[in-house]
Amino acid sequence: MVRGAGPALLALLLLSRTTQAFLEEMPASGSRPGLKRLLSNESSAGYCERKTKPATSLASWSLSTESLIGVLPVDPAPENYIRVVRNCIFSVVYPTPFKSRTLLVAVSKNVLEDILDLDLSVSKTNYFIQLVSGEKIVSGSIPLAHRYGGHQFGIWADQLGDGRAHIIGIYTNRYGEKWELQLKGSGKTPYSRNGDGRAVLRSSVREFLASEALHYLGIPTSRALSLVVSDDDVWRDPFYNGNIQKERGAVVLRIAKSWFRIGSLEILAHYGELDLLRKLLNFVIQEHFPAINVKDPNRYLDFFSDVVSGTAHLIASWMSVGFAHGVCNTDNFSLLSITIDYGPFGFMESYDPNFVPNTSDDERRYKIGNQANVGMFNLNKLLQVLNLLLDPNQKQLAAQILVGYPTLYYRRFKELFKAKLGLLGEKENDDYLIAFLLRLMEDTKADFTMTFRELSEITQAQLKEFNIPQEFWALETLSRQELFSDWVTLYLLRLKSNMNDSDSRRRKRMTSVNPRYVLKNWMAESAVRKAEMNDFSEVHLLQQVLQHPFQKQSLSERAGYSSPTPLWAKDLKVSCSS
Ligand code: AMP
Ligand code: MG
Repeated sequence: MVRGAGPALLALLLLSRTTQAFLEEMPASGSRPGLKRLLSNESSAGYCERKTKPATSLASWSLSTESLIGVLPVDPAPENYIRVVRNCIFSVVYPTPFKSRTLLVAVSKNVLEDILDLDLSVSKTNYFIQLVSGEKIVSGSIPLAHRYGGHQFGIWADQLGDGRAHIIGIYTNRYGEKWELQLKGSGKTPYSRNGDGRAVLRSSVREFLASEALHYLGIPTSRALSLVVSDDDVWRDPFYNGNIQKERGAVVLRIAKSWFRIGSLEILAHYGELDLLRKLLNFVIQEHFPAINVKDPNRYLDFFSDVVSGTAHLIASWMSVGFAHGVCNTDNFSLLSITIDYGPFGFMESYDPNFVPNTSDDERRYKIGNQANVGMFNLNKLLQVLNLLLDPNQKQLAAQILVGYPTLYYRRFKELFKAKLGLLGEKENDDYLIAFLLRLMEDTKADFTMTFRELSEITQAQLKEFNIPQEFWALETLSRQELFSDWVTLYLLRLKSNMNDSDSRRRKRMTSVNPRYVLKNWMAESAVRKAEMNDFSEVHLLQQVLQHPFQKQSLSERAGYSSPTPLWAKDLKVSCSS
């Protein structure tokens, strides 16, 4: 047992230190009205048997934005110039095609075939490339930019909106699922403010790879269909130090069931457009929250309850893989609780609750350990919006729902981390065991991903004898902490209390939840550097590897993706510039 402190006391100490950043300043948890359902944003694609073959031509494949603009108002001004827009949800605006030649760099076969019902051969056609680069629009579909606002770094930023994104249509697939297709980097819109409407190759490679990677890790996210690069010049100051560089414009076609965000509602509340706020909320509930009756007078409460639990679950799942979003502004927080708007995100390498992926985040507001707190901040902004539509009694209940957020978050966090340790059932000291391990990792700066992975691969017999094989480099680092043996003793004791378990079953369970590969910054950077020299091989390799993050793969091992971060990449930085 650990010297000098009883386990319960030490558990508290460890929790307060290692998880302080996750939980600090959260209000005490309280009761919460029953949840009607837990959000599930997973596509049914993949679960159902395919009855029809994917289409080999785009001839009869159709897109439309009618289901949005048939209900929600559109800006009456047809011109595309930067301006303040009021009393609408969308502006009609066409993508601006690139002037130079374009190249299709990558396609997600899974998105193409399983969600969009298209055969891979379609991606070889000219028409496909024209569609996904913004040169052509599917006939009959009216492209849109969405008007939204938001709180950026805690401060109201007023009108933001799709300044470089176009919804080019909604596709209804064979399961009846509706998916909104959106180009990012496709030119200016009324919401472009000072921007040029473009995205560069490096950030587009990162978004393409990361959104697909999160999906395969089982985390709700937008998906990416394609990545196109052009030869158009785009000028950026990547580190905001006056070094302006010429880069190449790129476009990602990304899809989500909905792109509405907390900021979509905030802008309407801010300008007192309450009828429109009600309309948009009713629309979102009707389309995306089928368990809620849109005629129910408590529908906004139920909606809030779902968003609160969805957000708590999403952030807990980010934490379980060490993902820091980087810019958790309210305009980047989805109403469907999926991960959206990938920018300066990062996967934490050596364990550090203060990990900040975005070098532009001077105040460290969006450090990994603060994500649960900013989730609370964002939900509080959503609550302020909903309060405009609630009666006094409902307002009280809504406040109670928010008070329940820390409990929901922590419960999910614990569930996920228990699974990461292979723990079955519930034991009093489980919190302690998790917090103790995180503390050891924090002290030793052991690699987060590989520590859990190696714990999944090592046998109990090896652990018992402290016989850590040489290739288990993260555990080797962890074992340098003097309390490591105490933790192992507790862990092995706890594993004994797993009912109907065996060591091989434990390892199988743990390897299915602890990835061997995540998109570490150096891996993305290596792929980007090559892509900038027109070598897309590592983009393709990572795309392939990250589709099976829980499976050991020889190509990936050879590329060093489960090895310590190479020296050249020790000081890599990512800024907001994109
Ligand atoms: P982000 O930080 O990428 O989520 O973007 C915040 C806001 O800035 C959104 O309204 C974006 O549409 C807008 N924005 C970001 N980059 C550009 C750009 N290059 N051109 C126009 N708008 C942009
Ligand atoms: Mg954004």
